[in-house]
Amino acid sequence: MSENKKEEGFEFQAEIKKLLNILSHSLYTHKEVFLRELISNASDALTKVRYHALTHPDCEGKEIPLEINIDLDEKNKTVTISDTGIGMTREEIIQNVGTIAKSGSLDFIANLSEEARKNSNIIGQFGVGFYSVFMVADEVRIRTKSYQKDAQAFEWHSDGTGKYFLTEIDKEKRGTDIVIQLKEEEKEYTDKSKIQSIIKKYSNFVSFPILVGGEKANQITAIWKEPKKNITEEQYNEFYKFITNVEETPLFRHHTSAEAPIQFSSILYCPATNREMYGYKKLDHGIQLYSNKILIQSDCKMLLPEYLRFLHGVVDSADIPLNISRETFQDNRIIHAMKNILVKQILKLLQETAKNEKEKYETFWRQQGRIFKEGAHLDFENKEALSQLLRFNSSKCSKADDLIALKEYADRMKPEQNEIYYITAASREAIEKSPYLEIFKKKDVEVLFLTDPHDEFILSGIMEFEKKPIRSADQANLDLLKDADKKIVDTTEEPKGFEETFKHLLKTMRLALADRVTDVKESHRLVDSPCCLVNPDGMPSVHFQKLIQMMDKEYKTTKKIMEVNRKHQIIKNLAKMNDNVAHQPLVEKIVNQLCDNALMQDGVVFEPMNMVTRLNDLMEELTKATLGDVKRIIV
Ligand code: ADP
Ligand code: MG
Repeated sequence: MSENKKEEGFEFQAEIKKLLNILSHSLYTHKEVFLRELISNASDALTKVRYHALTHPDCEGKEIPLEINIDLDEKNKTVTISDTGIGMTREEIIQNVGTIAKSGSLDFIANLSEEARKNSNIIGQFGVGFYSVFMVADEVRIRTKSYQKDAQAFEWHSDGTGKYFLTEIDKEKRGTDIVIQLKEEEKEYTDKSKIQSIIKKYSNFVSFPILVGGEKANQITAIWKEPKKNITEEQYNEFYKFITNVEETPLFRHHTSAEAPIQFSSILYCPATNREMYGYKKLDHGIQLYSNKILIQSDCKMLLPEYLRFLHGVVDSADIPLNISRETFQDNRIIHAMKNILVKQILKLLQETAKNEKEKYETFWRQQGRIFKEGAHLDFENKEALSQLLRFNSSKCSKADDLIALKEYADRMKPEQNEIYYITAASREAIEKSPYLEIFKKKDVEVLFLTDPHDEFILSGIMEFEKKPIRSADQANLDLLKDADKKIVDTTEEPKGFEETFKHLLKTMRLALADRVTDVKESHRLVDSPCCLVNPDGMPSVHFQKLIQMMDKEYKTTKKIMEVNRKHQIIKNLAKMNDNVAHQPLVEKIVNQLCDNALMQDGVVFEPMNMVTRLNDLMEELTKATLGDVKRIIV
């Protein structure tokens, strides 16, 4: 110890005692952040001295390296954090470490409940990081010497309860040493590797070297703050690996520095593979929030919407208070503003990629599309841009994994076409066999093929594209069918009186299916199938309803309208049989079976027992009839 001069005792203000108590108990969840706070203060002090040296070319001490040294003493249970920064004069110590800068807020903070304190933004605006050291310390000494010429050095010490003491000391170099006498139960902080890993976690991008026992513990410079032209491709990729721990080259990145309305810089990366898709649980946002190169939060969820959760990277704004708590992010104006800017920029980048690097965009879509498209449903503000970025397979694609944009669809719509259509099913093959597709094939109208169960949810969210309503092909009143009436059904070949016979069949069917469908009608959309089930207008499609059912087991699918193809041989035969009262029971069975077939085609699961019994009956009839025919031939 240096020669001891007169020691002066100071009483902490009552409010400060209270504040110390509050801070050490409720501001931080992880005690290890004390190190972050002290390193941040050291870094601030170094930044100031660097600035001073830059603005005063003839100042003293330019030869002193700008660095932070951490010394660990296991035996004495001390941690010493030394910097060669700006230091403090006696007045500055009293001012900066003895009083709280924003005293008006103190009453406010002290009167808040425990919960409210954690939620209060006011804590975030408090310059109180230093005091967090008392979470781990029995006693703290600050030995400091101002950078000013011939400054007297001082030692401040306190146990963080009632008092602090000041003594003049001899200190050779400018700067500050913080000597922490650890509490017995916190002595693990003298462990070198522990300290190194805390530095890696929170302070790796501090722009001055942090030396632990002479070894540099922080490695990477804050490349997001560098001008783009100074960074090599390799450095960008290295940094990606560092923050994600994934050995791959990212698909793209976005490096930005904004000046207005908020000053911030950021690098965001899009991973080349979607880890949610490969069995990982829902991704945590990977955005690290920095305030002037000091890490504030490593998985900040407030900086990007959920649908961009696949992005990794760093956002740095000096306007974010270091000690902002997780709970106060929601209310932070700057965070909100940065989020808006970032989302707009990312969408713009994606649009450019889609336009100029189609293949790359499609790779992005195949990997991250599943997450990304949620945005079209959720982000109302950017709906327009997001709709442009959606991709689907369609009837005009030659392969199941080809992709088109809604814009492409809209651009090749027929002049008389007023709606955009889609069909949902588990696979492209299933859609191609779907009865709903028949009319579209016949009229050569394009249909979007939706094979991801979420697609319909997303399309029903955006509802229209370029003012054209987007509709499921299984709806009852499609615009496409409005003038289809007579055109599709050629009645010239029908036997005389078939009109009546067919009407009679519809009537029989309505009675037979009274409990199962809302109506039975002649179809103008079917070509090859005998019948199908369509949705009364405004009702969600079957697939959509199945999705609801997955979430709500109680949900009952709504009844539908049965459409009947009068040109189909089964229907023609049925109509004829129906005119004979003796065949009525068989007709009813077949009608019910047709209804089950249509339901099965839609993938609706139902109790199979009735159907199996009925099918057995039908097969019995069929075999009987066949044998009867054979007998007739033999005789
Ligand atoms: P903040 O950093 O938000 O101002 P702190 O409680 O962390 O709040 O620090 C209070 C003040 O103490 C700082 O603003 C600074 O003036 C002074 N200080 C703390 N540590 C150092 C240091 N290592 N060198 C110089 N000044 C320091
Ligand atoms: Mg601080």
